[in-house]
Amino acid sequence: MTKPISLGLVGLGTIARNQHLPSLADTPALELTAIASRNASLDGVLCFQDIHAMLEGSDIAAVSLCTPPQGRFEQAVATIEAGRHLMLEKPPGATVSEVQALARLAEAKGVTLFATWHSREAAAVEKAREMLSDTVITSVKISWREDVRHWHPGQEWIWQSGGLGVFDPGINALSILTRIMPDPVHVHAAMLEVPSNKQAPIGAELEMRSAKGAPVHAVFDWRQTGPQTWDIEVETETCTITLRDGGATLHQGDTCLIAAQDEEYRRLYKRFGELIAAGQSEVDLAPMQLVADAFLLADKRDTDPFHD
Ligand code: NAP
Repeated sequence: MTKPISLGLVGLGTIARNQHLPSLADTPALELTAIASRNASLDGVLCFQDIHAMLEGSDIAAVSLCTPPQGRFEQAVATIEAGRHLMLEKPPGATVSEVQALARLAEAKGVTLFATWHSREAAAVEKAREMLSDTVITSVKISWREDVRHWHPGQEWIWQSGGLGVFDPGINALSILTRIMPDPVHVHAAMLEVPSNKQAPIGAELEMRSAKGAPVHAVFDWRQTGPQTWDIEVETETCTITLRDGGATLHQGDTCLIAAQDEEYRRLYKRFGELIAAGQSEVDLAPMQLVADAFLLADKRDTDPFHD
C-alpha cells in the first residue's frame, strides 16, 4: 500500500471541526499530521501557532486552508512557495484576480492547487447535470434563504469587506448552477441590501441569463427564520427538475429521484488525493466571477443595522 500524503490543516474553526477533521479521518490517501491554529491544539498531531511555523517545522506535503477568505492569499502563497500542494475552502479567496495569480504560481511551482466547491459534491448535482445536458432550459429559479444568526453566530469576518455576506452561502448555489447548466450564465442585474453597520450584504437578488437566453432569477436572504431553503428549480421544455437541501435531493416533477446522505467533504478529500497523484490542479472561478459581477453591477440599498 502507498504511504498516505501527510497534510497540515490551517484554521480550526466551524467547518474544520464539523467536516474537515472527520472527512480526513475517512480518507486513506491523506493523513492529518499537523495543524496551525492561533488558539487550539489537537491530540496526536504537531501543533503550530501559524502556517509559517508549520511549513518550516514539519514535513507535510499538502495543506488545507480552512481560514476566512480574507488573508488566505498570503497563506496560499507561502504554501505554494514552500512546494506544498494546496486545497482551498470556498470561496477560494477574497478576489478573482488573487486566485488567478495562485493558479499561475502553482503551475510554475509544479504543485496541485484545488479550489473546492463543496456543494458541487452534493449527492444529486451530477445527476441533475446529466439530466439537463440535452434539454432545452426555459427558466431557473434559485431560493437560498437561511438564518445568519443560527449559521454564522459571532463570525465578524463574514460581514467585512471580502467576507461576501449572504454570498458566503449563496456562492454554493452559484457553484451548483455553474456545474449543472449546459451553457454559461452571466449576470445582467443585481440588487444588494447592506445593513448600515456592515460592509457585506444581508440580502441579494440577481438576474442572470444563460448563453441560450434562459432567465435565471436568484434570491439570497439571511433573514429567514423558520424553515430554511436551499433550492434550485429548473424548468425545461418537458419537465421541472428541482434540487433541494443544497443539492442533496432531486425531484422530477413530484417524483423524488435522489435523497442521499452528505458525503461532500469526503469526496473533496478523495479528489484532492487523486489530483496530487495525477499532478493536476482544479480551479474553476465561474461561481466567484458571478458574485464579483454582482458587486460590479449592484444597485446597493442600505438597510437597518444588523445585530447578532
Ligand atoms: P470560522 O468558524 O470563523 O473559523 C475560521 C477559523 O480560521 C478560525 O477559527 C481561526 O482558527 C482561523 N482564522 C485565522 N484568521 C482568522 C481571522 N482573521 N478571523 C477569524 N478566523 C481566523 O469560519 P468557518 O465557518 O469555519 O469558515 C471558514 C471557511 O470555510 C470560509 O471560507 C467559509 O465560507 C467556509 N465554509 C464554512 C461553512 C460553515 O458552515 N461554517 C461551510 C462550508 C464552507 P484558529 O483559531 O484555529 O486560528
